[in-house]
Amino acid sequence: MNAPLNADLHCHSVVSDGTLSPEELAQRAKAHGVTLWSLTDHDEIGGQARAAAAAAACGLDYLTGVEISVTFLQQTVHIVGLGFDASDASLAEGLQQTRGGRAQRAMEMAADLARVGIPGTFEGALTYAGNPNLISRTHFARFLVETGVCKDTYEVFRKYLTEGKPGFVEHRWAGLKDAVRWITQAGGMAVIAHPARYKFSANEELALFTEFKGHGGQGVEVVTGSHSIAESANYAAMALEFALAASRGSDFHSPGESRTELGALPDLPAQLTPVWQLLAERIQYTPAPARV
Ligand code: AMP
Ligand code: MN
Ligand code: MN
Ligand code: MN
Repeated sequence: MNAPLNADLHCHSVVSDGTLSPEELAQRAKAHGVTLWSLTDHDEIGGQARAAAAAAACGLDYLTGVEISVTFLQQTVHIVGLGFDASDASLAEGLQQTRGGRAQRAMEMAADLARVGIPGTFEGALTYAGNPNLISRTHFARFLVETGVCKDTYEVFRKYLTEGKPGFVEHRWAGLKDAVRWITQAGGMAVIAHPARYKFSANEELALFTEFKGHGGQGVEVVTGSHSIAESANYAAMALEFALAASRGSDFHSPGESRTELGALPDLPAQLTPVWQLLAERIQYTPAPARV
């Protein structure tokens, strides 16, 4: 059997809602023992060329990556895309459409927060957004922590910005079918991100997996920074039941905020097919060190 690989195929840079640059992430991944890496910014592949170059420069194998926001049964679901051709035109167009409503949503979020006595959050969040086209709830959360409204970003999400709380604005993201198609037609693999984080009933979850598979989705994140051991075991069983390949990624966003460090994850359960096995031809291998 092959030795387990330290693959980290899920993290975020300043191109979406992380706080490190693609170059800083590559170096940090390397320093933490990662050998195969992917940068998976939300709805945006603008960091891919830098990430691939930084990976090659510091000795990491690389897969292109993205995390697409999807609306399924009125909930937001995240679909990770891996190993696609980053120059694919339909993927770029789909992602641009998906990003499109973020500014308007952010203004509505700010208006909602102003109604409960927290003014100025649109402008405040924007100062945290490395990419103004990708203003996200995370940027609002950082601003609310900095201004002392909450002690950390977890408290922000508990009290604000989530369903039923002030600052939450219903949003319609991409369709599941479209997101899977953009990724697969660009030569990549679609993967259901952090499945334990959704609030679906058993039947709804079954519908998600069945439809995802029907549209050509091929993978599921079994080991991620936000899964407990029990949750990973549960989705390992789902991966086998649905004949999906298994992925592994920290979902790292920021040194001060993220609970899981790059690469600091349990190995995938041995009986599963790792996504990188099916994506072997899509991996950008790091140049071998020159012999001296
Ligand atoms: P958005 O795409 O603007 O809806 O923002 C979603 C991002 O907010 C996620 O990718 C996470 O980084 C962050 N997030 C969402 N829910 C939580 C939560 N409960 N606790 C901490 N961060 C969260
Ligand atoms: Mn995020
Ligand atoms: Mn996510
Ligand atoms: Mn993520």
